[in-house]
Amino acid sequence: MPRVHCDGRDLTLSSDDNLLDALLGAGVQVASSCRAGACQQCLVKAVRGVPPASAQSGLKDAQRAQGYFLACQAKLTEDLTLSLSAARELDTPGSVVSLDALSSSVVRVLVRPGAAFEYRAGQYVTLIRSDGLARSYSLASRPDSDGGCLELHVRVFPQGRMSGWLASARALHAEVSLRGPLGECFYVPGQPAQPLLLVGTGTGLAPLWGILHDALAAGHTGPIELWHGARTAGGLYLVSELEALAARHRNFTYRRCLLEGPAGVGVELGNLDVAVLASATSFEGRRVFLCGDAQLVQQTKRKIFLKGAAMREIHADAFLASPA
Ligand SMILES: Cc1cc2nc3c(=O)[nH]c(=O)nc-3n(C[C@H](O)[C@H](O)[C@H](O)COP(=O)(O)OP(=O)(O)OC[C@H]3O[C@@H](n4cnc5c(N)ncnc54)[C@H](O)[C@@H]3O)c2cc1C
Repeated sequence: MPRVHCDGRDLTLSSDDNLLDALLGAGVQVASSCRAGACQQCLVKAVRGVPPASAQSGLKDAQRAQGYFLACQAKLTEDLTLSLSAARELDTPGSVVSLDALSSSVVRVLVRPGAAFEYRAGQYVTLIRSDGLARSYSLASRPDSDGGCLELHVRVFPQGRMSGWLASARALHAEVSLRGPLGECFYVPGQPAQPLLLVGTGTGLAPLWGILHDALAAGHTGPIELWHGARTAGGLYLVSELEALAARHRNFTYRRCLLEGPAGVGVELGNLDVAVLASATSFEGRRVFLCGDAQLVQQTKRKIFLKGAAMREIHADAFLASPA
């Protein structure tokens, strides 16, 4: 049975035990948020022993080589000595410099990194508050825009611990830490004539906004179609900005879809995945980006694949909620 040594304690695990659960169960303080390998808040470092490769998925090569791995994804087969605090050295300090409403339920948060922070529009960061609360948010900005600030679009949940705080004046000027950038949902230059399909619900627009601007700045010539879905009209935002972009760029089409009416002129009514799927007989050859509601992202990914898109051309970020 594998043994773990950390913070002066020794634990014995069975090979079926999830490391994060075992550590928490033993009273070891480990920060964690999504428990799905996305936020990377439970990143730990094996200072002795070899961590399971399956728990290193999504990490940079250099991090893997240094023994970092995700406790929430780990079942151990051999003894390890862990550092729980080493990952903090990977974080970038930052501060919240601006908060403004994009709609009644979405706030735009600008975070200024306190050190060099390289990323691609559409990736995401895990924002860590000074008390350790952490949540992931996609990057709507491009590295050369917003004066070097990171732009986040945050949907405000009334009971939301992070989003409620970000929507309040208390967050302004707060010091935070940034883990990341993470994820592979971004525009890669090349194949400028390839049709792009961008589909997002709610604040799933954040990464798509960044990807769209990146593609346009790179001189993408192929058709770019962006679908934004929401439950009601109040969930749509940046509408006039997107309409203006569509008027300026002949290869860009902006489409909206609402689950509940009234829909208004040019807005589809119904399920977003159904509307997107019905818009083409085949998605073969398209580069697809899907972001937002986790269930919708998974469903649409499968359906678009079955309708011709290659799996390697489908880039998806599911906005998983953190367990209570
Ligand atoms: C890769 C990734 C990228 C993400 N990017 C973004 C982004 O760009 N913008 C953004 O707004 N969010 C994004 N999220 C979601 C975000 O990380 C948080 O889950 C969200 O902000 C809620 O956190 P909270 O602390 O405010 O709510 P919590 O305190 O975690 O939840 C409190 C309550 O809020 C409600 N709630 C929380 N999440 C949901 C939900 N998804 N659906 C319905 N009710 C919910 C529930 O009532 C819940 O009990 C992303 C998530 C991931 C994994």
